[in-house]
Amino acid sequence: MPIESSRARLFRHLLGAASLPLGFATLVSCGGAAAPPAAPQPAASASAASTAPRKPIVNVTLQSVGLDPLAIDRSQDPCTDFYQYACGNWLKTVQIPADEPAWSRSFNEIQKRNELELKRVLEEATKPGSTDAVTQKLGAFYGACMDEAAADKAGAQPIRPLLDKAAKVKDAKSLSAVVTELHAVGITPLFDTSPTQDADDATRWIANLDQNGLGLPDRDYYLREDEGSKKLLATYREHVARMLELAGFSKARATAAAADVLSLETELAKISKTKVERRDPKSMFNRVNRAGVAKAVPAFDWDGYWKGIGFPGIQDISLTAPKFFEGLQTLLTSTKSNVWQNYLQWQIVRDTASLLSKPFVDERFRMQQALTGQPELPPRWRRCVHATDDSLGDLLAQPYVKDHFPGDSKQSAETMVSAISAAMNADLDALDWMDAPTRTRAHEKLKSLAYLVGYPEKWKAYDFPVDAKSYAQNALRSRNYELKRALLKVGKPVDRTEWQMTAPTVNAYYDPQRNQMVFPAGIMQPPFYGINQGLAVNAGAIGMVVGHELTHGFDDEGSQFDAMGNLSSWWTPAASEKFKAKISCVEKQYSAYEALPGLRVNGALTLGENIADNGGLKLAFEAYRALRSSAKEAIVADGMSEDQQFFLGFAQGWCSVYRPDFERMVVQTNPHSPPRFRVRGPLTNMPQFGEAFSCKVGSSMRPKDTCSVW
Ligand SMILES: [Zn+2]
Repeated sequence: MPIESSRARLFRHLLGAASLPLGFATLVSCGGAAAPPAAPQPAASASAASTAPRKPIVNVTLQSVGLDPLAIDRSQDPCTDFYQYACGNWLKTVQIPADEPAWSRSFNEIQKRNELELKRVLEEATKPGSTDAVTQKLGAFYGACMDEAAADKAGAQPIRPLLDKAAKVKDAKSLSAVVTELHAVGITPLFDTSPTQDADDATRWIANLDQNGLGLPDRDYYLREDEGSKKLLATYREHVARMLELAGFSKARATAAAADVLSLETELAKISKTKVERRDPKSMFNRVNRAGVAKAVPAFDWDGYWKGIGFPGIQDISLTAPKFFEGLQTLLTSTKSNVWQNYLQWQIVRDTASLLSKPFVDERFRMQQALTGQPELPPRWRRCVHATDDSLGDLLAQPYVKDHFPGDSKQSAETMVSAISAAMNADLDALDWMDAPTRTRAHEKLKSLAYLVGYPEKWKAYDFPVDAKSYAQNALRSRNYELKRALLKVGKPVDRTEWQMTAPTVNAYYDPQRNQMVFPAGIMQPPFYGINQGLAVNAGAIGMVVGHELTHGFDDEGSQFDAMGNLSSWWTPAASEKFKAKISCVEKQYSAYEALPGLRVNGALTLGENIADNGGLKLAFEAYRALRSSAKEAIVADGMSEDQQFFLGFAQGWCSVYRPDFERMVVQTNPHSPPRFRVRGPLTNMPQFGEAFSCKVGSSMRPKDTCSVW
């Protein structure tokens, strides 16, 4: 239910808020019969016309270059609100599918196509007669997941042994033993263990202990005082009680247990770091050795823990939040054993509900509904496609990439990446606020910035048995296997060819500790990228994505890591001060955007993504201009200049509609600004946009005061 799994890498920067609760489905078409595009907008920018030699014009249609003329609302002035102009008609006609919390013209529509394709692959795999091991494993996993009758028959039985053990916790020692057993199957009350790259030596892995153990998406949900938040907390309390009733508690006992759960989780929330605090990489690395952890939380049986999860020899450990672990020690020594019993049983049910019978699945969805406003649970096949992607991702990716990642997409991506790197290189030389020593280091970092496109060189193995009869058992085995895969890395060198996303995923990321950006095959699809789309449109869409990820290397977090991925400051104090002033302009700009009545964008939480959006669009524009500079002709699409096509290609990639509850959750917890601000923010900072659409200086989309970092 939380927006990102607790095991997501700490500083990995996604392109979009797409790892959301399962959601993406039926599209609604953009309205009736295709009307011819209305009168052309003022064509080609004055400055472009004056600086570039006149080229012969080739007239084409918007559709032929990959733009959607029907999405445009020509009654809107592009200089007042370009997002409404580019997406307005799409927004008027689109309906969010009932099993979705939101819908976008890019992420969700691509995802929908991908899901249908993966469903086809999986249904094929469940047919008898296949002889190859990959197909057999996929078929068995998906088939077991689709067997709703078997899950219903099993009820809570798959987790009964765990619940029974949790119900017998009587002291810190037995509590430690149960927490250990739960962690081994990926149920992570209290804290979470994962590998992390050593902050001082990014070539090697150490173990990382992070705060964890809440049932709501963020600590602030427990601590906010407004009426809406109190209401949500009451809904949560009822949900916990109903889940425990399903697990076998009497109504009265479940009600009392839910109160225990809320009070303990509130205590955990109080000692947890905020999302904004978690954006400070220096504070998130606190090297302690094994003895240091034992000293911080002596009440917990750490030797038993490391042994129990299968890693008795772990030595090097980092804590994300030392105060959290100090607080944990206090809770371990002061909380009554029956509270622990209730909390642990709740955490087991919460974490496994989607694997169990229909009453658990439905109750889990009721809470999700309260958070997102989504009316319907996605059909079982969609949930099972995602479950298979989660558990056997690289097996499922293999048939997908065969059909959906033709070799030329890789080359196009590479062309785009090198044009964008070249643009950044030129920008670094032109920045007036950066001094020479810092500039040299920035060039070094850019030069070392690596990228991966499409799919991994070698596929991951999944050496755990898959039972054609028990979905719950398969999922728990998979979690155990993934924990082992993760922790086996500790003490070993980092493999820079490893992927942190499966190939069909519609997203991208930058990892500052590897100084590496990754673009899975899943995102290299229209409208982000199309072999038949115009270059200006591809640059505005996928080019901006590439520029966004590249800029993450230089955002407020990424800029604290050096070319090798080590956390070390390569900035002179003077350059660092100027950089801080530049980014505080961006923080202020976005903090003024009102997402919902009374709810503004959190400029501090979204700062890194906003810097990346601004830098990304600017770099993509410069790359597109460079790539088109030698073109013999100018392409005009239904009256739109290439510059205008670029900006439209960018904006139409972000046309999105959110349910209000979901938008509230995103604004409160997600590091990305809502899509309309991801369009407005960067465009208002780019003079080339105002020029392309002949906007008056001082108009809403071309303000006098702008922010610029990169
Ligand atoms: Zn990002």
